Amino acid sequence: MAQLIDGKQLSDQVLREVASEVELLKGEYGIVPTLAVVLVGDDPASQVYVRNKVKRAEEVGICSIAHHLDVQCTQDKLNKIIDELNNDPQVHGILVQLPLPSHLDEEEVIAAINPAKDVDGFHPLNVGALASGRASLVPCTPQGCMIMLRQVHPDLSGKNVVVVGRSNIVGKPMAALLLQENCTVTMAHSRTKNIESLCRNADIVVAAAGRAKLINADWIKPGATVIDVGINAIEVNGKRKLTGDVDFESVAPIAGAITPVPGGVGPMTIACLLSNTTLAAKRQLA
Ligand code: NAD
Repeated sequence: MAQLIDGKQLSDQVLREVASEVELLKGEYGIVPTLAVVLVGDDPASQVYVRNKVKRAEEVGICSIAHHLDVQCTQDKLNKIIDELNNDPQVHGILVQLPLPSHLDEEEVIAAINPAKDVDGFHPLNVGALASGRASLVPCTPQGCMIMLRQVHPDLSGKNVVVVGRSNIVGKPMAALLLQENCTVTMAHSRTKNIESLCRNADIVVAAAGRAKLINADWIKPGATVIDVGINAIEVNGKRKLTGDVDFESVAPIAGAITPVPGGVGPMTIACLLSNTTLAAKRQLA
């Protein structure tokens, strides 16, 4: 049976480190790291994500400022709020909860955020820095996955890794981080041929496709490490349940190590967001 990589336990460890950084920043420099979270509209999943981020921030002593805007908010109004937050010296991190309602231009909004306050790491300057191996603010989910992988593989050099999914927020930055650690990275996606056999040859599979239970035991080499980023809501016996992109029941008996859903990558993402916020606050001291 695979070793379980416990995201809850590991994220608690990261959060303890963040809390002591926050104490240091308060004590030595008199600054309270502050995260502004902007939510547009009433998407229930986004509301839950924002609530969790704000709650965790408060637990580690980070001040959070929530801006909840009406679903009909205009691009100009949103840009104006971003501009105010960019220019507010009390705000160290800015997060705009995605997805935005369809009338708003996400790319324009992301590009409007001051890169030094871009704690999601989505601004083109931060994306470029990551691609060229000089990252400062690294996207939170792949950052969390790397911490989990290092628990099992202190040295990732030479590992064959398949990343399933090529989104800007997970798949692409994940591949960049793995390359930096000298992994041999294959990016698979919805048009990839023979995806199953590609995965079966991998030492590590990172699943970020957003397809419930896409990956089963036939896709996994015995002893491989499996990181499941997916969060999919499915119905089991009439009840809503969260499941990953990996069929945990079939894969866990043959994998070497595996992350659960829930309690895996999710908590790590929030911990890394708060870690990015203290990092951004420290950098803004200079
Ligand atoms: P996305 O929809 O932007 O991208 C999905 C990617 O998967 C695409 O590149 C697509 O080509 C690929 N894909 C889709 N179907 C596929 C298939 N059948 N085979 C191979 N590839 C396929 O999604 P995203 O934003 O990257 O998120 C992926 C999943 O991760 C979702 O379930 C999302 O909810 C979850 N997620 C979790 C966290 C977390 O903190 N745990 C954070 C972000 C995203």
